[in-house]
Amino acid sequence: MSRVYNFSAGPAVLPEEVLREAQEEMLDYRGCGMSVMEMSHRSAMFGEIIQEAEKDLRELMNIPDNYKVLFLQGGASLQFAMIPMNLMKNRVADYIVTGQWAKKAWQEAQKYGKANKIASSEDKTFSYIPDCSDLPISEDADYVYICENNTIYGTKFRELPNTKGKDLVADVSSCFLSEPVDVSRYAVLYGGVQKNIGPAGMVIAIVREDLITDDVLPGTPTMMKYKTHADAGSMYNTPNCWCIYICGKVFKWLKKQGGLAAMKAYNEKKAKILYDYLDESRLFKGTVEKASRSLMNVPFVTGNADLDAKFVKEAKAAGLENLKGHRTVGGMRASIYNAMPIEGVEALVDFMRKFEKENL
Ligand SMILES: *Cc1c(COP(=O)(O)O)cnc(C)c1O
Repeated sequence: MSRVYNFSAGPAVLPEEVLREAQEEMLDYRGCGMSVMEMSHRSAMFGEIIQEAEKDLRELMNIPDNYKVLFLQGGASLQFAMIPMNLMKNRVADYIVTGQWAKKAWQEAQKYGKANKIASSEDKTFSYIPDCSDLPISEDADYVYICENNTIYGTKFRELPNTKGKDLVADVSSCFLSEPVDVSRYAVLYGGVQKNIGPAGMVIAIVREDLITDDVLPGTPTMMKYKTHADAGSMYNTPNCWCIYICGKVFKWLKKQGGLAAMKAYNEKKAKILYDYLDESRLFKGTVEKASRSLMNVPFVTGNADLDAKFVKEAKAAGLENLKGHRTVGGMRASIYNAMPIEGVEALVDFMRKFEKENL
C-alpha cells in the first residue's frame, strides 16, 4: 500500500489516523458485532455517535447555546435553496458574488425573491475579495450572503463584511474548521463536509435558533425546513450515519491537534511555504491578490497551458495528485486542507523547484 499526497479540492484528503481507526472498527464497532454502516440510526450506539460528534464540534467552534447544529443531506448546493426558503421573510437578500459557488447561490435565490448582487469580483475573474466595509445593504434585506472561502479561485474573506446590522449567512465549505471563528457573528454558517472535514454527502449547518421557525416560504418541502431537522435532532429521517461517524472522528483528531487555533497556525505555516515559493518563482505565478489569499486552496499557473498540463502529469507520476485547476479556470490548484501534512506541501514545492529548473 502506498498513499499519495492528495491535493484534491473535494472530496479531499482525510487524516490517516482517522481512516485507520475506521478500518479497525469496520467489521465490529466496539463489540456490537456490526459496522456503523449496518446499525439502526435509532440505536443507542448510534445515538452516542451523533451526540458526541455534536458535542465535540460545539467545543471546537465554541458554538453558543442559541445555535443549532444540523447534519443535513443534499450537499452544500441544496442550501442555496434552503436558505432563501427559510430566511427570506421580506423576499429580499443581498449577495456578495466572489466566485462560482456564490454566483450559484445568488442565482438560486432569485427563484424565491429579490436577490441583489451588492458586490462582485467577477471583473477580474474572481481573483480578489472586494472591499465590503461600506456596501449598499438593502434596508429590507433578510440577510447578507457570502461564500467565505472561494474553493475554485483561492480567495478568502480576511474580514467579514459590514452587514450594517443585517444577518450574515456564510458558505464555509472549504474553510470549515481551518481556523477559529466567532459563530455569534453569523446567522447561519454551513458547509459541505467533503472539503475539510469528512466524506461527501453531508452538510453541517449552524443556525441561530430564532431563525428556525414554521414561518417559511409557502410550498417549502418538509425536508427543506430547518425546523424539521432541528426538532428531530437531525434524525427526522435516516441521516448520513457513516459520514457523521467519520466527521466525529475528525473532530476528535482536531481536538488532539490542539483545536482550531493550533490548526490555524499549522495551516498558515503550510500555506506560507507554497506562497513564498510562488512569490519568488520565475516559472509559476499565484493568481490571487495577496491580501485575499486562501489558506486552503492555492491556484497557480505557468502562463502556458501545455506546460501546465505537463506539470500536472509529471506531478502525478511523482505521487502528487489532483493538482489540475478547476475546469472553468485551468492551470493548477493545490488544496491544502487541515489533513494535508506539511511534508506534502514541502514535497510539492520541491517538485515545483525541480520542474522550474528543467523547464525554464
Ligand atoms: C464544493 C462547494 C460547494 C458545493 O458542494 P456540494 O456538496 O457538491 O453541493 C459549495 N460551496 C463551496 C464553497 C464549495 O467549495
